[in-house]
Amino acid sequence: MTRSARLVVGGALVAAALAVVLPTWLGGGPEPVPGTAKPEYAFLRVDRDTGRPVGWDRCRPIHLVVNIAGAPPQWDDLLRQATAAVREASGLKFVIDGLTDDRDFLARSRDVGGPVLVGWAPASELPQVAEDAGGFGRPVEREVGGVPRYVGGTVVLNGDLSSRWAGQSQPDPIEIAQLMHVLGHLVGLDDVSSDDELMSGSGLHQLLYGPGDLAGLRRLGQLPCAGDD
Ligand SMILES: [Zn+2]
Repeated sequence: MTRSARLVVGGALVAAALAVVLPTWLGGGPEPVPGTAKPEYAFLRVDRDTGRPVGWDRCRPIHLVVNIAGAPPQWDDLLRQATAAVREASGLKFVIDGLTDDRDFLARSRDVGGPVLVGWAPASELPQVAEDAGGFGRPVEREVGGVPRYVGGTVVLNGDLSSRWAGQSQPDPIEIAQLMHVLGHLVGLDDVSSDDELMSGSGLHQLLYGPGDLAGLRRLGQLPCAGDD
């Protein structure tokens, strides 16, 4: 596989290129040689006092509310499949509380915590959605018992891409991977340079979490519960 043939979503998406490139990329090209790539992961923040990554309280589910304006029709399955992948890798549980009209995705009031707001926005509304692999995820941090933890946040997917999935009854693997990347940020992973990881910062090169992604998610799911620090 040449670098130019890689699937890159983010920035200016060339929609036609996705349809052409992905089948080639999945089926063709030389097999990767096992053991040549080092698993790579990074955390958004590491607590200097404990040396541990900042993450969520693994003993409580992460609550989500969803604004479905501009969402693809299979948003429910999409959200369930992507959160299931995070849960499988980390043990972190998600609960979808319901729907909301709130789309003030950058609201300061969200800094106090509460359910994570999930939504879809075009780049014309929220330019940040075009900067990463199909959206952005941003946790809100607060000190709980003297330890920094994530207590809320925002997940926004690029609404300009939603029309691509409009005719499909099931979420597309690319769409699921985009949300898995963004949820990776929500739970504490940062972008990495390796294109073997779903958390690659240069766009979407994988459809599933890579070895580094899985190792990072595992660590984020093994942090002490609040009160047990
Ligand atoms: Zn990213």
